Amino acid sequence: MPKFMPFAGTMLKNLFSKPVTTSYPEKPAVYPERSRGHVEIAVDQCIMCGLCSRNCPPRAITVDRAAGTWTINRFDCVQCGYCTEVCPKKCLTIIPGYQTPGTEKKEAVYHKPAPEKKEEA
Ligand code: SF4
Ligand code: SF4
Repeated sequence: MPKFMPFAGTMLKNLFSKPVTTSYPEKPAVYPERSRGHVEIAVDQCIMCGLCSRNCPPRAITVDRAAGTWTINRFDCVQCGYCTEVCPKKCLTIIPGYQTPGTEKKEAVYHKPAPEKKEEA
């Protein structure tokens, strides 16, 4: 008798039965009150001053004023929250929840929207 046969019953039962757990992703994750979450930006309010970048202890933020981009390397961010304190526009916040896991270490790049052109009268 092949060696896998003793497990065949269990294998088939597991294949055709409901999941043992009903947690994430079926049920949305509930984050503890004191979990640190992640930094988000209201990039339309950002004035590209770079204060967050200069004050970020692990240098996780890059601000490119010419390109109009605000970039965060979430793997470097330690969720200290200091950037949210120094931002003069208060457009940075730490919100609950974590980023979707991925297979690559990517930076998150936010583009400041171009100002609307005023119509001439
Ligand atoms: S929370 Fe702290 S580590 Fe993360 S980007 Fe802001 S200043 Fe940097
Ligand atoms: S400190 Fe605030 S306004 Fe200045 S670049 Fe950072 S996010 Fe933008």
